[in-house]
Formats: sequence, C-alpha cells, structure tokens
Amino acid sequence: MTGHGLWRRWAARALLACGFATLLSGPAWAQASSPLNVVASLQPYGDLVGRVAGDRAAVSVLLPPGASPHAFDPSPSQATALANADLVVMNGGLDAWLLRLVDATSPDAAQLVVMDAISFEPIEGHERSDAADHDSHAGHELANPHVWLDPRLAARAVDAVAAALTELDPAGADTYQANAERTRAALAAVDAEVAELLAPVAGAPFVPFHDAWVYFATRYGLDVVVTLEPFPGREPSPRYLAEAVRAVRQAGARAIFAERQLGTRSAEVVAESAGVALAVLDPIGGAPGPETYEELLLSNARVILAALGD
Ligand SMILES: [Zn+2]
Repeated sequence: MTGHGLWRRWAARALLACGFATLLSGPAWAQASSPLNVVASLQPYGDLVGRVAGDRAAVSVLLPPGASPHAFDPSPSQATALANADLVVMNGGLDAWLLRLVDATSPDAAQLVVMDAISFEPIEGHERSDAADHDSHAGHELANPHVWLDPRLAARAVDAVAAALTELDPAGADTYQANAERTRAALAAVDAEVAELLAPVAGAPFVPFHDAWVYFATRYGLDVVVTLEPFPGREPSPRYLAEAVRAVRQAGARAIFAERQLGTRSAEVVAESAGVALAVLDPIGGAPGPETYEELLLSNARVILAALGD
C-alpha cells in the first residue's frame, strides 16, 4: 500500500465525518475519525479481525456463506465491498481470487496474508499437486493452506492482525493489544477444550472430504487415511473413489466426512460402498453456520467425536 493514498482517504473521510471546523480545531479530528474498513476473505478471519479491532474497524467478509473458497469466482459487484478497504486480510493460497480482486480494485489497501505473516510448520497436501491447473492454490504450492483450523496458528494470525491494525491506526495500539490478548486466551481455551473432547478418538482413522483438516488432524491426533476429493471443487474420478473405498475399508474407518461447502455426492457414494456412516464438517462457518471461531472448532469436534467415538 502507499501511505499517501491511505492518508488521502483518511483525511477525506475525516472531513466528511467531522466537518471542516473540527479539522481546523486541532487533534480532536484524529480521535473522531471514522473507523477503518477491513475486508476478510473468510468468516473465521472476519470473526477474529472483528474481535481484535473492536469498534475501531468495520469488518466485512467476502466469501458468501455456504460457498467454498476453492470453487469461488467473485462477481464484479463484490469489488464494491473492497473499494473503501483500508486493510484486506487473506489466508493465502486458497483465496488468491481475492488477491487479484484487490490488485484490480483497491491497490492502496494494506494486505495481510496470514500464511506469509505467521510462522508455522507447513504440511504438504494433495491440493498442491493440482496447483498447475487449479490456480486457487497457486503461490503456495508446497503448503496446505488450511492453517486457520489449528487454533495455535489462528492465535499467531491474531497477533499479525493486531500488528497490521496498529500500523494503520497507531492511536488504537493499546486497544488492539488488549483485544488480541483476550482473543488469544479464548483460542487457547478452545484448543484445550477440543483436545479434551477428541482425546477419546485419538489415533482414529479420519477420512475428510478434502485436505482442509490436516493441521487440525495433526493438532488433535487424528489419522488422515485418505481424502475423497483431492482437487477441491472438482468431482473425483470413479477410479479414485474406488481406491478411496478400499482405503476406508482397510483402515477400518468408522465414518467419512463430507463438507458443507462442497457437494456431498461422492462422499455418499463412498460411504455407501464402504458401508460406513457419513457426517458433515464445516471448515469455514458463517450464517447459518457457526459465527465465532470457537463455535466453528467445537461444532466440528463434536461431529467428529459423535461419528468416530463409541
Ligand atoms: Zn482446501
């Protein structure tokens, strides 16, 4: 981003919000300036950013509820949501569509790409092999992008968000710091709660629809045996599904997991062929799904426990 563009927009907004007289009267206008506009690609980041920003930012989420970031093609009208953005928060990899939209519509907005901003142990996944002809994963070919589903990594994203907001709005530094600490504490609590919930199924064979759950599975000791849709958003071949059925049977998996945002047809076929139960996970949340990050994690953990537990 360029500081000049940002300052111009802030100044223009401050003028609109406070009037010229207030501006002339001195530093009061800075305190009364309108909140930042932040656009997040995915609901979990929208929730976390909103909690760190408090009332110092208006936060919107670009991916519509129920949509998969893998199969998403933003409409031109969604560019309007970005036009006034001061900060755009993206995951990296699977939301590259937003990066292209930002470059086209709001090149002055600051950008926070979580995968680039936090330190983490990258896990490779099936999805990377699709990078060449499925460009939603281009740019992060080596790392599976679903880092937000490990709350310890989400806590690092919270710190990165606080830093990005502080850079844009130094007057809010104390607020962002305090809110980030509170949010990190909540994430640590939900991490402990999910670990306790899933302890009875530790080591269980886990068959998710696509590679969204590798960081989650690594954190909570689930054994990913096979995924049903190696190229998310694209139906797997009958031959691949037949192999998946064999892998499910061989591992003795008790259930397989479809995904709310992607079609469940191939999961139904595999569940029926393998003679196992079918449950549905939600890696993103949002209306009418879980609104907060904690609800998102807990609701998925409960589905997994119910399907794999005794
Ligand atoms: Zn994915």
